[in-house]
Amino acid sequence: RATRGGEEVKAYVPSMGQIFLRRFQMVTQFRQAIEEGQVTVHYQPKVALPGKQVLGVEALVRWQHPEFGRVNPDEFVPAVEAAGLVGVLTSFVLETALDRVRRWLDEGLRISVAVNLSVRNLADEDFPDRVAALLERFGVPGELLTLELTESDVMQDPERALPILRKLSDLGIELAVDDFGTGYSSLAYLRQLPVDQVKIDKSFVFGMGTDLGDLAVVRSIVELGHSLGLTVVAEGVEEDLARDRLEAMGCDVAQGYLISRPLSEERLEAWLQARTAR
Ligand code: C2E
Ligand code: CA
Ligand code: CA
Ligand code: CA
Repeated sequence: RATRGGEEVKAYVPSMGQIFLRRFQMVTQFRQAIEEGQVTVHYQPKVALPGKQVLGVEALVRWQHPEFGRVNPDEFVPAVEAAGLVGVLTSFVLETALDRVRRWLDEGLRISVAVNLSVRNLADEDFPDRVAALLERFGVPGELLTLELTESDVMQDPERALPILRKLSDLGIELAVDDFGTGYSSLAYLRQLPVDQVKIDKSFVFGMGTDLGDLAVVRSIVELGHSLGLTVVAEGVEEDLARDRLEAMGCDVAQGYLISRPLSEERLEAWLQARTAR
């Protein structure tokens, strides 16, 4: 609180209470927000290295809140999880994404979609059956769906996650370990899990042009992943230098602002068309 010429000037800094209240308010509105179309799915392309072939897209949720404006998933996803509503979020994103893949298939395009899971999905024994029902409903083969789980989520309770991951894998679904390198994976566990892909965390990819330590981490994840027979994906590819180094190391897939930011469905269509026209 500062005073200027006797007049009080208040800087707006939300208190912990206000932040808590906003989260609480948002969570209570979440279901309705989905029904009203405030919650949407954007898609970020993933391309093959070397080359530019579009292999798939990652579905990333967005919330355009009437009062708070665009709210970041890093803010509302944890609140939705804490409120026990993550099943609602995951179902919405899965349905939206599989509907998109279905329409691509109808146009003769095979583009896979990756959906982010929460650790709470892994505690839900019925989850694989629900995913199977959705694949059937949209007529999408399992191999066109990737499910991304963070390293720390999988490692939180691997014994519990394992049977669920096995069922998902048996549906032909690709399983990816997200944010790889930030958790504390036991190599023994990674080998036991029916995982197909590792995604190198973007923090290492950002640094790999300038920081030898980050470069070494990226290189060892590529080697480790390949020695376990996994596809290695790098996220957060922002610069040509990072892209070129990843390609030289043999990293399989790149995703990042250099290729494209996450796009609305309409903008993604335009982006895909501009690429195939070239
Ligand atoms: P994530 O799964 O690690 O997703 C990648 C994040 O990095 C996305 O942020 C994406 O926009 C951003 N990103 C991609 N390429 C670049 C780049 O080159 N540079 C930079 N600076 N950033 C890049 P976003 O969309 O804000 O999502 C944040 C996190 O929210 C996600 O991290 C994921 O953990 C969570 N999330 C998003 N959508 C969903 C969802 O549908 N369900 C669940 N459970 N979590 C979600
Ligand atoms: Ca992800
Ligand atoms: Ca598999
Ligand atoms: Ca990530």
